[in-house]
Amino acid sequence: MADPKGFLKVQERELPARRPVSVRIMDWKEVYEQGDPAQLRRQAGRCMDCGIPFCHQGCPLGNLIPEWNDLTWRGEGRQAIERLHSTNNFPEFTGRLCPAPCESSCVLGINQPAVTIKQVEVSIIDEAFANGWVQPHPPERLTGKTVAVVGSGPAGLAAAQQLTRAGHTVAVYERDDRIGGLLRYGIPDFKMEKKHLEARLNQMMAEGTRFRAGVDIGVDITWDDLRSRYDAVVVATGAMVPRDLPIPGRDLPGVHFAMEYLVQQNKAGAGDTVVDQITAEGKHVVVLGGGDTGADCIGTAHRQGAASVTNLAIGTQPPTERPENQPWPMSPTLFEVSSAHEEGGVRQYLASTVEFLSNEAGEVRAIRVAETEYLDGRRVPKAGTEREIPADLVLLAMGFTGPESQELSGQLELPFDGRGNVERDEDYQTSQAGVFVAGDAGRGQSLIVWAIAEGRAAAASVDRYLEGETELPSPVKPTDRAISI
Ligand SMILES: Cc1cc2nc3c(=O)[nH]c(=O)nc-3n(C[C@H](O)[C@H](O)[C@H](O)COP(=O)(O)OP(=O)(O)OC[C@H]3O[C@@H](n4cnc5c(N)ncnc54)[C@H](O)[C@@H]3O)c2cc1C
Ligand code: SF4
Repeated sequence: MADPKGFLKVQERELPARRPVSVRIMDWKEVYEQGDPAQLRRQAGRCMDCGIPFCHQGCPLGNLIPEWNDLTWRGEGRQAIERLHSTNNFPEFTGRLCPAPCESSCVLGINQPAVTIKQVEVSIIDEAFANGWVQPHPPERLTGKTVAVVGSGPAGLAAAQQLTRAGHTVAVYERDDRIGGLLRYGIPDFKMEKKHLEARLNQMMAEGTRFRAGVDIGVDITWDDLRSRYDAVVVATGAMVPRDLPIPGRDLPGVHFAMEYLVQQNKAGAGDTVVDQITAEGKHVVVLGGGDTGADCIGTAHRQGAASVTNLAIGTQPPTERPENQPWPMSPTLFEVSSAHEEGGVRQYLASTVEFLSNEAGEVRAIRVAETEYLDGRRVPKAGTEREIPADLVLLAMGFTGPESQELSGQLELPFDGRGNVERDEDYQTSQAGVFVAGDAGRGQSLIVWAIAEGRAAAASVDRYLEGETELPSPVKPTDRAISI
């Protein structure tokens, strides 16, 4: 245990400061200031090393949180990163981007603010990279077996790293021009700078994982062909079909899916020339949808110099405190003020968009919204409450309906489940022998931590399929969900 009286001596939660809003919206760098080592040690020392550490249950990866809290408190960073890497291939991603269900289930959270687990995590991996402790781990022997991983998001990358280290020859296929999935082209730099992704990809390449960007499986190479070329295939293609809003005016210029907008800014940030880039500069921006994707659009619009940013959500505003029906150790749905929200703009709840309105040039100029009314459990616009909100740019960030299905069902005849995700068994295997599914493609749009956990677990199943046995860990089952009661 770190400090036996730590949680009594230090009862408040301390995190590194965010850079001042006026400064950070002038650039695309991460919003947080450098952490203070003394503060970090104080916070790690609050961990009680619980007999039953509920933080383990909260984390899909089963991260050994009390162990590395203790090592951080003792200043033994090198051992801390070994423990952290034993359950998580990419703590630099989760340490920056995870909503931290481990903290919601931290035992200290029953009557005190939870341990700052995520901050300890990111500090351990940043120190490890800075000190050169993150080295390649190439396999000692090759099995002679080959695996194709399709999709290079966190699920595909985790599966590829595990399988490469197990001695298989792994190629990762990605249809985008760069590797990384949503880590590359969805998540903006102010949440995670791409240098962290590059550093990890360099390690993976040195271990022997091969990357093939710009190859669309199902189009450039058929799924059948891929399957015949490799001993096993992992489908990690994400769940990127966006939810649309088919109301009058949907086709007006200026109304876009969030991902069209975010991908372009990420390409521009990488130095690419983006012809006719969708930009918020000088515009009244309306973002429809209150989740992570919406917040990323808001932060991007601020940095592009929007005239105003309005965020609309169709439902009620979540509570600021844990509600009674979501008690500890569940991960509650709360009203969150992310860094992007802190930077400005207006958030409105119970807003149902009924129409996009055009100007004389035929472009969007406003949206018509009504108050949301709940009728028999359905959300409908309340008659007589309609009003207009000026909008030169509308971004649809209302979630995703599931993975693309056409080629997978057409060429491989893979069945999809009732929620539109690729069907798989308890071992992540599809109806086709040797074809496995990991991440959002099988789970639906979820979180990076679940994608990494599924990538690790699917890799264990692939290894067992190829070798008859495996020593790779399998942290989650396809049916596992967040803690419920
Ligand atoms: C804007 C946005 C912000 C988010 N922010 C967060 C966050 O802050 N924290 C968090 O935990 N989660 C966040 N999420 C969710 C998280 O990013 C996903 O759950 C996670 O990336 C899923 O990983 P994946 O590997 O399954 O798929 P993805 O990351 O979606 O990667 C799938 C990859 O497969 C490729 N692909 C698809 N089809 C083919 C094909 N036929 N051939 C070749 N390649 C193909 C795609 O191009 C893509 O690169 C966010 C999601 C979005 C959209
Ligand atoms: S639940 Fe919280 S206090 Fe207990 S071991 Fe985990 S991090 Fe430490």
